[in-house]
Amino acid sequence: MVNTLEIRNALIVTQNQGREVLRGNIYVEGSNISYIGNGTHDSNEVIDGTHKLVMPGLINTHCHVAMSHLRGKLDDMPLSKFLELTFKLDSERTNSGIYNSALLGIYEMIDSGVTSFVDLYYSEDLIAKAAEDAGMRAFLSWVTLDQDKTTQKGDPSANAERFIGQFQNDDLVTPSVGVQGVYVASDEVYLKAREIADRKDTIIHGHLCETREEVYNFMELHNGERPTEHLDRIGFLNRRFLAAHGVWNTMREVRLLGKNHCNVSWNPVSNAKLGVGGIAPVTEYRENGVTVTVGSDSSGSNNNQELFQTMKFGSIWVKNERWDPALTTAQEILDMATVNASRALNTNDIGSIEVGKKADFAILDMRTPRMMLTNEETAVSNIIYSADSSCVSDVIINGKILKRDRKLVGYEPEKLHDQVFI
Ligand SMILES: [Zn+2]
Repeated sequence: MVNTLEIRNALIVTQNQGREVLRGNIYVEGSNISYIGNGTHDSNEVIDGTHKLVMPGLINTHCHVAMSHLRGKLDDMPLSKFLELTFKLDSERTNSGIYNSALLGIYEMIDSGVTSFVDLYYSEDLIAKAAEDAGMRAFLSWVTLDQDKTTQKGDPSANAERFIGQFQNDDLVTPSVGVQGVYVASDEVYLKAREIADRKDTIIHGHLCETREEVYNFMELHNGERPTEHLDRIGFLNRRFLAAHGVWNTMREVRLLGKNHCNVSWNPVSNAKLGVGGIAPVTEYRENGVTVTVGSDSSGSNNNQELFQTMKFGSIWVKNERWDPALTTAQEILDMATVNASRALNTNDIGSIEVGKKADFAILDMRTPRMMLTNEETAVSNIIYSADSSCVSDVIINGKILKRDRKLVGYEPEKLHDQVFI
């Protein structure tokens, strides 16, 4: 018999086409939402939503979840030293270390209301196992780059393709191909990633124009051509591309990304903490047809995997940078973390609370002092500007309760603490 769940009398931030915020019941059959309204159903599980706000689970569109154990180890140092240390720590990993660190990061995300994440790394098969064991929805991009610049065994493109084949029909894991960035990936690697993605119908996830140094180094080697212009000229840019960062793009490049229907994962906390100097032109991206989403990036540079901080900081950073508090509204930011992310991931299943969609919810407790008095009118603003992850009382992914009354289901901190993380 299919498992059923009902959330009764909750304030629901639907993120549907009309961005309705309403009060009512949500009925879930199996992994999908089958009813939203005032009627009640007999169900196996009931959550009293009287003091609860139910919103679509947040979607983190850029991270390296198997690096969660690195928090606190890479702080307050120049970027060159940060990268040198990261690459060194990254090349010494064990399979159990990758699995355990991924599991830790996944629990951290579930705890803070993130119900889907996009990951860029190698050994994504181990990260897939961690996601499945925790019950997390995961979009995993196996990273490709030049063979002489990787510690991966074998050809990274062949590894990525094998991984996609292995998880192609999985319920929670959606596999795809990744590209590290222009500084370690040749045109052949980019075009091979595009070919694999076209053939297997996946997204392509990769870093793009994170730092000015990376752009200038590339221009020096390519007669003044900029990275995004270059990727357009070789025929790589396309609607499958989800670019992480996109901080240092010119208006011409913003238009090229828009013309090719590309997507950008904006990582404001990571960008600012690494002192990249600029801010991603998110307003210009939106005006030119680029779908903007948000990401945490790794715990080496953030140093957490939640999105409430990222959403608030991103929004207020744009306002301050442009001397205009009307820019990047709460609704726009919430869209980035929900419906925009769903579009960028080429799925219709997640990002909003509507009949037929996956039951992926973050539930906030409105008895928390900072959320008290939240109503239909203030719900979206309060999610972005007032809430933090401590307000998340319950989390549901694929119809399963993974956090209940502030307690993570299946999380055994004592056991996990003693595992290998390198
Ligand atoms: Zn990254």
